[in-house]
Amino acid sequence: MSTGRAEGGSTRPMAGAAGRVRTMKAVAMRKAGAMAMAAAIVLAGGLAGGISAATTARAQDTASESQKAIAAAMAALPPDAARVLFGSQPQPAPLEARSIGSYARGCLAGAVAMPVNGPSWQVMRLSRNRMWGHPNLISFLESFAQNARKDGWNGLLVGDISQPRGGPMITGHASHQIGLDADIWFTPMPNRELSAGERETLSATSLLKDGTREIDPKVFSPLHMRVVRRAALAPEVARVFVHPAIKQQFCELAGNDRGWLTKVRPIYGHYYHFHIRLACPAGLADCKEQDAPPAGDGCGADLAWWLGPEPWKPSPPEKPKPPLKMSDLPDACRQVLVSK
Ligand SMILES: [Zn+2]
Repeated sequence: MSTGRAEGGSTRPMAGAAGRVRTMKAVAMRKAGAMAMAAAIVLAGGLAGGISAATTARAQDTASESQKAIAAAMAALPPDAARVLFGSQPQPAPLEARSIGSYARGCLAGAVAMPVNGPSWQVMRLSRNRMWGHPNLISFLESFAQNARKDGWNGLLVGDISQPRGGPMITGHASHQIGLDADIWFTPMPNRELSAGERETLSATSLLKDGTREIDPKVFSPLHMRVVRRAALAPEVARVFVHPAIKQQFCELAGNDRGWLTKVRPIYGHYYHFHIRLACPAGLADCKEQDAPPAGDGCGADLAWWLGPEPWKPSPPEKPKPPLKMSDLPDACRQVLVSK
């Protein structure tokens, strides 16, 4: 059976105040960040040094011997090295723009930053430094922000895109690794420029009644549907992720206009924001495309599964997945990490 479970769109379910818990966790992680940074610099030096030592120390080494040495060096890294290394890169890799690997297992070269202010958008949570994307995504978001005004959406509050070099993150998302995913708040941009402080602390609006999986009719408006519909209709967009209850609401309200629903996929989380995922830009051989979503409006059996108890069972406490290792990422991501 096809479900959205494997779509790599989000973390596990968030019940009740989990959003706030996640924020607190993020603050704690940031405190730990300075230590992680120091460790990462050492590690980055070690990794780069290890690679060059392996490739230059013995000029007679064959390519396969060098590869073995690199593999051994990577195997010796701590298990969370990849996310610490990618999470501590403050600047993009100065290379040609490439999304490398898959949405939940890859990295990004030649990223550009979403400008923090635009005529119809503002970027939130600047301290996270996750406003980086493939240039195609950034220009898509800029024009999408402008066009959404035609639907009466005042402007976008832009949440996480990717880290400067993409890759796995210390907190949050499983995907967002190759600069083609962006979270957009369900709160429209206010008519004034938010201060840096407000961008850290302002809460997004949940479309669900607190602590439930039901739409809050006092918050939900047809504008929410229009802005998601516009994203889903864009040819460069592969998928838009929303909470199952929100998808259900769209299914009920869409009437005969149902084509756009195909790309709108139910997933955990995503009731404070929706998630736009672009398809791989043309000509990027290293960018791993996801299968197209199944035909149809997705309002049938798959959604019924999401609305039932199955996906939300606390079930045997799930072991947290081990972090991605450097060796799990495409080889080209090593170059992205160390390029200066
Ligand atoms: Zn997301």
